Amino acid sequence: MTQGFAGRPYDLDDLVPELAVLRRRTTLLLPKSGSPGVGESSLGGPVLWPADEPWPSCGQQGHWAWPDEKNPAGTVPMVPVVQLFARDVPELTFPEGTDVLQLLWCPLIHPQDQACAALPKLFWRTEADVLSTGTLQAIPSPQEGEYEEEFMPNPCTVSPTPVAEYPNWDLPQELRQTLRPRIQELEERFGMDYTLLACALQNKVGGYPAWNQPPDWPLCARGHRMEHLLSITPEEDLDMDMGDLGGVYVFLCRACPELPYTHRYDC
Ligand SMILES: [Zn+2]
Ligand SMILES: [Zn+2]
Repeated sequence: MTQGFAGRPYDLDDLVPELAVLRRRTTLLLPKSGSPGVGESSLGGPVLWPADEPWPSCGQQGHWAWPDEKNPAGTVPMVPVVQLFARDVPELTFPEGTDVLQLLWCPLIHPQDQACAALPKLFWRTEADVLSTGTLQAIPSPQEGEYEEEFMPNPCTVSPTPVAEYPNWDLPQELRQTLRPRIQELEERFGMDYTLLACALQNKVGGYPAWNQPPDWPLCARGHRMEHLLSITPEEDLDMDMGDLGGVYVFLCRACPELPYTHRYDC
């Protein structure tokens, strides 16, 4: 499914012109199990971390790993989830002066968080600056009992591939009704569901969130609707099984100078 989407042999703009205005660009990450280097874009791989900056940890009270709900963990090191270099994702706008995006999270269950997901933290960096100060060599990793298996991504290389996609849950209800007969016809013709025909429900940057449930777009503290930055979803190579179908979706507000971000999770 994931590979096929990038090279689909039909043009939905032609087949369903009403969808054309809702088309968005997204960059599929297409993770593959491997040994990415610290200077490469990756999912779950090592990240370029400045030697003079302590590795982040999470000490949120009550966070726990299955089955120890009654016996919460203490402070645990966060784990790398995503690293993307600007040169690999040309369609992503990096904040001025930065060219590396890093997402780490605490791989535990957080009772205070909506849906108890892993707790993501986002960093924007400048590769040359990190290289000039030197990189942190000894990066701690969580020990037994300090992580949830499903929040520990397997190291994967990525093959960022820009494609067009169309909304899934973000398709307005009325339009969904109107288009239903034509979409059904296409589903039969191509032998796949609309979500496979039109939507990239996978690891990606930009475009529509890969959510499996009704949209829950966050607003920043000043009331701006945030933009979808990236989706992390379970895929075989990534070896994460975040609930039945769920993913973690990270959102960013570019209207606020401090670039606030937040996340959503569905399961
Ligand atoms: Zn935590
Ligand atoms: Zn804002």
